[in-house]
Amino acid sequence: MRIETLEARLIKPTLVKAFPLGEVKGHPRIVGPQRDMIALQAESTNGYRGWATIDTLPFPFYNPESTFEAWELLQRVGRNVVGVDMGDAEEIVDRLGPIVGHNIFKAGFANLFFDIDAQAKDVPLYRLVGGMNRTVEVGISIPKSASPEEIERQIAQGFRRIKIKVGPSYDDFKKVAQIRQTYPLLLLMVDANSSFDHNNGDHMNILKAFGELNLLMIEQPLAHDDIRHHVKLQQMFYRNQIPGRICLDESIETIDHMDQAIKGGIPIINIKIARVGGLPIAKRMIEMAESEGVATWVGGMLEPTPSKAHSLAIATHPGVNLPSDISGTAAYFKEGQDPVVEPMVRDGGYIHVKDVPGRGWDVDKNILQNITKSFIVFKSK
Ligand SMILES: [Mg+2]
Repeated sequence: MRIETLEARLIKPTLVKAFPLGEVKGHPRIVGPQRDMIALQAESTNGYRGWATIDTLPFPFYNPESTFEAWELLQRVGRNVVGVDMGDAEEIVDRLGPIVGHNIFKAGFANLFFDIDAQAKDVPLYRLVGGMNRTVEVGISIPKSASPEEIERQIAQGFRRIKIKVGPSYDDFKKVAQIRQTYPLLLLMVDANSSFDHNNGDHMNILKAFGELNLLMIEQPLAHDDIRHHVKLQQMFYRNQIPGRICLDESIETIDHMDQAIKGGIPIINIKIARVGGLPIAKRMIEMAESEGVATWVGGMLEPTPSKAHSLAIATHPGVNLPSDISGTAAYFKEGQDPVVEPMVRDGGYIHVKDVPGRGWDVDKNILQNITKSFIVFKSK
């Protein structure tokens, strides 16, 4: 495959509401109300047009990457992938140059390759990534700021799995405990986005209390680069017959991280195609987990729908055995801000993948133009 033209855009779609990830050491981490990120569109020699996004956040508070840095990097390396023959998604990433880390940046290019490749091979993207189930069970992710009433409204929408963002506070614990009591059968989980400190006794007591709630999982309570203490926490739960199950998100960036987590007894991994470096690595991780009896599900980065279609494709893989965080178009973006022609519609707690060549959800050029703040084109000649 050869890319003739690469168009990159700094885009700033507006979210329905700013999305707080919770505080770390008193610092708020808020995504939005503008979700700034980078859109990539490429045209291949055979005339196929691919799409992908670099789903970085505005500031390096989820992982060390950020959109302003990614945009600068792109100016320097974007032309490396244009006008050259490339055999697979690994090669497009190699062409970028010797970049350490920066998985979200690399994922944009790996996913762009798969997006074009599915069209060129005339197959649905989900087939290309080993998918089978055309119906994907999905859940919703509710911000930390949501009141119990707002959470109840989301439950009423038909989601079987509800995730609530939490921080190291007894108030957050009480809110979740209350929901647990009202809905004992709901697949209820919490995501702490690394906001608990393993050296803080209060924090660890709150985690132990969350562990007793029989939640579906407790996602990434401790630091983003600390697999070891997550393993220790899980082993403490096992030893004390506490039903808490740890899921890792931020900590899993490589196959090696995955191996450490699985060997340490972590029972669940959240696979984000952006965080791990794109669809090909996500596929390998899912297959690795599947063979080790570890559960996986697919998470998101508040990405626009044509990119959600990439996550949806990998979520059809038979190794993905828990509901994924893909909640359809209207949940996060304001009207007229999500650059997609036809919305991704939920059917209760499910989304049906389209059986058409490529990703299945087309880019709306007018909306894309409206949310574009900067634009750069690399041409083969
Ligand atoms: Mg998470």
